[in-house]
Amino acid sequence: HPTTPARTRFAPSPTGYLHLGSLRTALYNYLLAKNTGGQFLLRLEDTDRTRLVQDAEENIYQSLKWCNLEVDEGPNERGPYGPYRQSDRMEIYKKYAQILIDQGHAYRCSCSKERLNNLRESATKLKPPTTVTYDRKCLHDPSVSDEGNDTVLRFKSPDSYEPFEDLVHGSLNLQPQYNYNDRRYDDFVIIKSDGMPTYHFANVVDDYLMKITHVIRGEEWLPSTPKHIALYKAFGWEAPKFIHIPLLTSLEDKKLSKRSGDIGILSMKERGILPEALINFVALFGWSPARDVPGVSANESMSLKEIVEKFSLDHLTRGNAKVND
Ligand code: GLU
Repeated sequence: HPTTPARTRFAPSPTGYLHLGSLRTALYNYLLAKNTGGQFLLRLEDTDRTRLVQDAEENIYQSLKWCNLEVDEGPNERGPYGPYRQSDRMEIYKKYAQILIDQGHAYRCSCSKERLNNLRESATKLKPPTTVTYDRKCLHDPSVSDEGNDTVLRFKSPDSYEPFEDLVHGSLNLQPQYNYNDRRYDDFVIIKSDGMPTYHFANVVDDYLMKITHVIRGEEWLPSTPKHIALYKAFGWEAPKFIHIPLLTSLEDKKLSKRSGDIGILSMKERGILPEALINFVALFGWSPARDVPGVSANESMSLKEIVEKFSLDHLTRGNAKVND
């Protein structure tokens, strides 16, 4: 648990409504920031225009507001503070992409979909087969420029990724499956052909610029973390601390309803559930002050302020380990 103020963010993609799992991610980020006297930010990761859901942004915003998880800074458009929105930050991503190009960490690729599909297919037949499929054709082709349509920008990834420390999972060495004999590389796309940054790229640039110290997010992002760390390294930036928490899917399925519409946070409001009860329920799943903090019984409901005071990453670690058993 940090002894200095933590700056955290909740960074949902507006591709659906806020549900229990994402509320828990938001809450832990909020609790860590507030417990340490730091700041909590909201950032909408809306660069994948094909997956946007029309009123998701509003739903996320209203859900957090109803739960009293106020953010500490951001554009002012919605009164006290609005969310940062990645689609408003395109010039920033352009600038940082150019830095990577200039330093030889990124290159344009004009390979057709068909060629990339063939590469993918042939990669499965290699011995050993590999999930890393690109052959770096365009890295060595000076005729590829950004003038042409349909080019993407690729990150020139390192030969292997560095092990990293996750505050819940400990030290992790996550490598994609390489096949060095056939010279395939994990040169993932950082700017798409429509000029939009990918999740990996915008996420890293923003966490750096927003001075995020701790990233708390769902476990599904663990395999992305080595890529992010490679990007931080290419820029010469220090990476934030990472905390990946297990998904709540099974809890949502078993304890609540099978119909996914019913687990939306605002639908709980409609059904008369009180935000404080919900916050207690979500906070205490995977984090149990009752076991660790004297004077708090398991059945006692705490105010948000009390939860903030008692929150600790150390408890979170042990609680989550138990859920995984
Ligand atoms: N936009 C990602 C999501 O929807 C954020 C992951 C992260 O926090 O880095 O979960």
